[in-house]
Amino acid sequence: MADSGGGPKPQAGEAATWGVQTQGIRAADWRSDVGEHSAAIYATSSFTFASAEEAAARFAGESEGPIYSRFTNPTVSAFEARLAALEGGTHCVATASGMAAIMSTCFALLSAGDHLLAAEGLFGSTTGFLCNHLARFGIDITLVDPADTQAWEQAMRPQTRMLLVESPTNPLCELADIAALARIAHEGGATLVVDNCFCTPALQKPLALGADLVIHSATKFLDGQGRCVGGAVVGDAQRVGEQVFGFMRSAGPCLSPFNAWVFLKGLETLDLRMRAHSASAAHLAAWLERQPGVERVYYTGLESHPQHALACRQQSGHGAIVAFELEGGSARAFRFVNALRLASITANLGDTRTTVTHPASTTHYRIGAQARAQAGISDSLLRLSIGLEDVADLEADLDQALAASQA
Ligand SMILES: *Cc1c(COP(=O)(O)O)cnc(C)c1O
Repeated sequence: MADSGGGPKPQAGEAATWGVQTQGIRAADWRSDVGEHSAAIYATSSFTFASAEEAAARFAGESEGPIYSRFTNPTVSAFEARLAALEGGTHCVATASGMAAIMSTCFALLSAGDHLLAAEGLFGSTTGFLCNHLARFGIDITLVDPADTQAWEQAMRPQTRMLLVESPTNPLCELADIAALARIAHEGGATLVVDNCFCTPALQKPLALGADLVIHSATKFLDGQGRCVGGAVVGDAQRVGEQVFGFMRSAGPCLSPFNAWVFLKGLETLDLRMRAHSASAAHLAAWLERQPGVERVYYTGLESHPQHALACRQQSGHGAIVAFELEGGSARAFRFVNALRLASITANLGDTRTTVTHPASTTHYRIGAQARAQAGISDSLLRLSIGLEDVADLEADLDQALAASQA
């Protein structure tokens, strides 16, 4: 990816000194020979070689350059390099989905006989993958309360190779103390992996807090407009550049160049969007807390959140996700959802458009009533992903739906 097109010429490593907004726009702002200003999409499955000797050198790893798009592709590489700069990691591997990022990380770093500590209440498919699939390969899994740091320490075994957490969690916005878990992991020689989906590097930098690897569902805020499914793993040369890349290259859950391009462009507005999402969500969370009929609001930006102080320490903002309980059980919750005019009823989150879900009957339905009760997912719980519409219009929509949903 020779930058021969008259663009900015940052020095090697300079992107690491930039602010998040500059990184999102200018890191890996590569150009081809024609000097396109906006990134090109390399829609090709393979790459040609000038000679048989060059082909041999590429395959031997003696000459740099792409071979085949399952291994590397320039558009995908640009997205990887930009996300790595934003997260403060040296290496990034993009994947076909967030779940492919989690699968690739686990298969790359764990072997039969290893022990994995994973947070309770992880994204449903993550828990499903770990307990129903990964466990079949001889990996022992213990689920631990993400907010109870002592429980992680006690659950460590000599075979523990990995700790996997999300912070904040979906949908109840519980936090893990990332710096404390990093110390516990490193004392036991294990790797701390943080799914940074809800905050993104605009609001939280797990690697700077001591985590080893960051996982993303790019489907959410990195895209930011609900268009493509994708994922990524960010970290160091050994674990990500060698192990996760090696697994991805052989097993094949690679990201398409088109989706990589959408995410690359999404990163250009990530910081602005996350700050706007956070401002509207903070306003609406505080507003909801004052409404009669709203029993409880879960948002790390509220002083009523039990981990508000930790949130202020490890995040620079509180994000878009607001959960709340409405008195009247699932019947009232359904009436509220049906009365909303602006918010879309969809399981996705991290969109410009505000979305609403009733977790007990959708995203958390399959775990069963007992597991839901244990996880604190009641029938009255609703989750909003606050979008970028005018906040006054969103408040009016919530207001009329609260009134309309009264029995
Ligand atoms: C959506 C999501 C995932 C899975 O990502 P996909 O892109 O849907 O595969 C993983 N973790 C969290 C926290 C998510 O919200």
